[in-house]
Amino acid sequence: MKGRVNSAAEIDPWGVTDVIDYSSLFEDFGISRFQDAVNQIAHPHQYMRRGIIVGHRGYEDVLRAMQTKSKFAVMSGFMPSGRIHLGGKMVMDEIIWHQRMGGDAFACIADMESHSVRGVSWKDCKEIGVNEYILSLVALGFDVEHGHIYFQSTNKQLRDLAFELGTEANYSEISAIYGFSGDVNISHMISVLVQNADILQPQLSEYGGPKPVVIPVGVDQDPHIRLTRDIASRMRMFRVEQRLDKNQKPYISIREKQADKGVLEAVASKIESPKRVYEMHIDVFGIEASEMNQNIREIEEIVRAVELEYGGYGFFLPAATYHRFMQGLTGGKMSSSIPESYISLTEPAEEAARKVKQAKTGGRATVEEQKRLGGLPEECTVYELLMFHLIEEDARMKEIFEECKSGKRTCKACKLQAAELMHSFIKRHQEERERAKAVLKEHEVYKEWVQV
Ligand code: SF4
Repeated sequence: MKGRVNSAAEIDPWGVTDVIDYSSLFEDFGISRFQDAVNQIAHPHQYMRRGIIVGHRGYEDVLRAMQTKSKFAVMSGFMPSGRIHLGGKMVMDEIIWHQRMGGDAFACIADMESHSVRGVSWKDCKEIGVNEYILSLVALGFDVEHGHIYFQSTNKQLRDLAFELGTEANYSEISAIYGFSGDVNISHMISVLVQNADILQPQLSEYGGPKPVVIPVGVDQDPHIRLTRDIASRMRMFRVEQRLDKNQKPYISIREKQADKGVLEAVASKIESPKRVYEMHIDVFGIEASEMNQNIREIEEIVRAVELEYGGYGFFLPAATYHRFMQGLTGGKMSSSIPESYISLTEPAEEAARKVKQAKTGGRATVEEQKRLGGLPEECTVYELLMFHLIEEDARMKEIFEECKSGKRTCKACKLQAAELMHSFIKRHQEERERAKAVLKEHEVYKEWVQV
């Protein structure tokens, strides 16, 4: 993927210089644009309103569940290998937002991944997992009472599910997706299946059974989401789809993929519409085109219930939202090996403010030039900090954009303001982290974590 300047940036206060070319995601990978979903959300998060969540895959089911107040879940994971930074905060904010919208929320500390891929010791995984990630997650507003936080390595049910999912994935496929060569360790490969299991776990009967689940992630995680959707589909006994007969009239076809004897008949017995039952499939007729989507959903529910009755999983294909990446404060990508390029939620507030004051801006060479030509907020990392994290009101953000473009705003004053906002955000967040310790201590499941 290549860098490019957003051509809409001249008129778009939410447009920034993209680190990668997002248009190829829609054209080449079939990711849907999130802006089509935003209008259907009553109170969208600022990441949604501002186009920071740029795309999605299969979010329609989650949207419908939110609108009809039916069950859905949200889950995402954090690899404990470094400090929690603003990129991790974005995922946490998205989990918390969906939890507040009624989703059953899951947050995973991917210690098996960290241990097998980065060689981080179990002790460090635990310490980093708790002290960096879990405390910040709870401090940002994760509802511990109703949500689930876990480490992969201590979750037996998760590891059992990963093993089961492994029966539907093979070495060549995983190697092709992740670029594994022959010297990749086996545990690294297993950790991929554990992450697939993380995504599907919220649909197990222990958590109320199959339901739409959304995974908020950065766009780089799409191959992983596609693999999990493929595996979830392979775990199903049937496929339900719309087809056209020779007169171009639509009907619903239920095709067996892998089911024991008698399961197809059990499905057929529960369908009241006119149908024809064959050895490996059922065709359902007499459905008006205008009611097709509703009927497909109803038949999917019947099929799913029968699958569960016969020991299947009945998984929904997991959905994902994809957010854009922030630029590094020094320009280019954020990198854990360049501390000046990112802000950690656990570093001293003064240090974070200092980094903001030194960040790359979209300012002109001189103040005089800036007044005459205006700044380039779409290329400015300070503007990004304000838009992603520091200013909640859209109207205020638009003002800043216009003040910058018109040359009314100088970078010196602007950076100072952003640095002050960052300072108070980090300070407040660190106070909240102290309160988070007390919250975790009150919970039987979590209290031993805060003693590490
Ligand atoms: Fe960035 Fe602010 Fe300078 Fe505009 S005035 S380029 S938003 S630092």
